[in-house]
Amino acid sequence: MRTLPVASIISLLLCPAAAVVAQEKPADLPDHYRDFAIYTSSEPDPEHSGRFILALELVNRGKRHLPTRIVLDSSPKVGFQASVVNVDLNAGTRATRRLTFHPPVGLNKNFITGKIHFGNTEARDLFIAVRGPDPEGWLPDADPDVDDKSETLTITDTAQVVATYAPRVRADWWRTHPSSTIAPRQRVKPLITLASRGQTNYVLVNQLPPDANQVAVNDLVRCIGIIADGATLPVVEKSPQHEHTIVLRVRADQEWPHPDAYHLYTTSAGSVVIEAGHVDGVRNGIYGLLTDHLDCHWFLPFDLGEEIVQPVNLSAIIGQIDERREPSFFSSNGIGGPRNRGLTNQGRMSFGHAWAQLVKGTEELYREHPEWWARDRAGNILKFDQEGAWSFTNFCTTNPEVLDMVSQKLNQQLDHPNAIVASVDPNDYAPFCLCETCAAVDKSYGADNPAGTYSTDRMIHFANEMRSRLHPKNKHKHLGFLVYAYQIQLPASAKPADGVAGMICYMDWKYDHTRPMNDPSSPSNRKFMRLLKGWGELMPQLGFYDYPTDYMHYGPYGQVNKLREDLPLARELGVTFTAMEAQPIYAANGLNHYICGRLQWDVNADVDVLMEEFFAKYYGPAAEPMRNYWLRTEYYTATLRPGPRAQRRMTANPDMWNELDSHLKAAEQIVQNLPAKNIRFRERVQNQRDGFELGRGKWQIRQAFCKRRIGPWGDDKKARLKPNAFTPANRELLEQYAVWVADKRNQYAQAAGYLPSLLPAYYMNDLEGFIERLRKNFD
Ligand SMILES: [Zn+2]
Repeated sequence: MRTLPVASIISLLLCPAAAVVAQEKPADLPDHYRDFAIYTSSEPDPEHSGRFILALELVNRGKRHLPTRIVLDSSPKVGFQASVVNVDLNAGTRATRRLTFHPPVGLNKNFITGKIHFGNTEARDLFIAVRGPDPEGWLPDADPDVDDKSETLTITDTAQVVATYAPRVRADWWRTHPSSTIAPRQRVKPLITLASRGQTNYVLVNQLPPDANQVAVNDLVRCIGIIADGATLPVVEKSPQHEHTIVLRVRADQEWPHPDAYHLYTTSAGSVVIEAGHVDGVRNGIYGLLTDHLDCHWFLPFDLGEEIVQPVNLSAIIGQIDERREPSFFSSNGIGGPRNRGLTNQGRMSFGHAWAQLVKGTEELYREHPEWWARDRAGNILKFDQEGAWSFTNFCTTNPEVLDMVSQKLNQQLDHPNAIVASVDPNDYAPFCLCETCAAVDKSYGADNPAGTYSTDRMIHFANEMRSRLHPKNKHKHLGFLVYAYQIQLPASAKPADGVAGMICYMDWKYDHTRPMNDPSSPSNRKFMRLLKGWGELMPQLGFYDYPTDYMHYGPYGQVNKLREDLPLARELGVTFTAMEAQPIYAANGLNHYICGRLQWDVNADVDVLMEEFFAKYYGPAAEPMRNYWLRTEYYTATLRPGPRAQRRMTANPDMWNELDSHLKAAEQIVQNLPAKNIRFRERVQNQRDGFELGRGKWQIRQAFCKRRIGPWGDDKKARLKPNAFTPANRELLEQYAVWVADKRNQYAQAAGYLPSLLPAYYMNDLEGFIERLRKNFD
């Protein structure tokens, strides 16, 4: 009798479609999730004391009319009565509806909840976060869930709406949406069986150059082997007049929209062809076949992140295909890995601070050539060589010798056949030169740069100058600088030449990562949007640099709700390439990596579909609690009040830790007795548990020992430690965490290449250093 439940579990895992009636996306829904947005604000009603006005702003960015009905529940704790709002929202329009509420005195944090319907379809959940006044004498960092001083939204009214979060209700129809693997019944007939039950009639004709990377080719053979229960696809170089072939080839004789674009098609003879203008395009085509048609997934990096679904019929079957695909960006670093097709143009449009590599100062050079370096108005060198070498002294950008040296080096870098960009970015936060000729450059553009800290025009001028000195054979390549620090503001009048590229940095310590960048309720994001729009219009090539992981506290950090809007929007505003700071903190932030990687390939992918597929296939029987885990992580981030440093404010919310813990426990219960064949699901839940405990442990230590916020590198200066923290109980807490960290470090080092990584070694060293310094304070 015991075999029955096990067998039913396996069949459910192997063929989920059989257990679920495939549904179509309801016709009432907007074409794209982004087509609809809702924002909320509040203000005291000037005409009625104690009454507040709640303004709902509805936006229809799509091309279809949306009959919208919002059903809002009664919320006595906020003083809000149940209401229904009907709006006929025409395509491309927005509408505002005003309601009122009477918040009770003593309101802390609560919600107005509801549902949004389009036509007859329930489409979105709605959470409107309302906060009461901040306590008297409130310090920005003293309480849970509060903002950084640099952009404090201090609440003085009885109540204020701080966030609006309207996620989709469960997309039951995800299996039939093109963003997921094609459902078997959607395959176009006649069907093609590539391999079945250990046998294949196909050969793989690999016509790629011999030096091409073979990882994707090997994946193709291996995955078909797994799907078809051991079938081995023979690999040949030339087609031996074989009837059934899978052909991989580069077609340089054709026009391609992008080196990473591909054409995947089937022929009337039943063959499969993957061709592209470049081997990288063929690689994408292979993963297009594997992921979109054969249900193979790389949800997270390393072996445990791979999920090759073996269907019950043990057969690799596809329908008729004719797909031309190209990436959304000119270049992307693909943080989900090349197997998710997000690595575009080899991610080569990436650059950082570079002046110290071009001409670097030494005491000797400062003595011998003071005129080479950034100087103040009196001629003193503005030395900026930092301990720890995070930054250096800038050079003077108008000195003729410097210009010669720099342009020579830039040409050398670009001479390399694989280089498409060289960096002309200054040293990190180092002041610019204020010598007479440099000041004259500022003046010629009408730029006011008295302290060397507003230098955009000078930056562009210098980049243009270096561009004009590129050798003819390098003229089609790029020179790049970061739109960051002293050159993030728009220029007064300088215009970049063709071939000059910028990369705008969406710093999480300065801008708001609780919500999409176009959410008008965030003051810092309004500033960022203005910059992004301006730079998008100005730059021929503009990159977007963002930070989708919590590299400070390693905690849960919901960035999907933001990325799904930001990446397509950035592209609309002129961003042509992306370079994400992808810290390999996969155990804690894996979903952010996966979704970001998929969007880097296709910004129009349906993110709910991608997420549902991730939950169902990556976690198998534990999908439901793990879905709750990830979606509630999004919820806790999206309902914070606006402001920077969202990571820290996430970790300071005890409800978040408790609730996510309960979802993990539910998942652990489900996977604890899985048969050996399905052990991977237990390991994946354990990996997530490790990521969670890493962050929670660090937060508990900070809570116990640190008075105020601490920086990313364990900023545990004595003044910031609680004087009463050094108790035996806290010592015990610290020691337990230290042992746990050491164990996990060891365990993950031994499982390198198998487990999605917990924390890279550099952050592990920081964390251990932080623990060690706290320990010393006990002595
Ligand atoms: Zn100068």
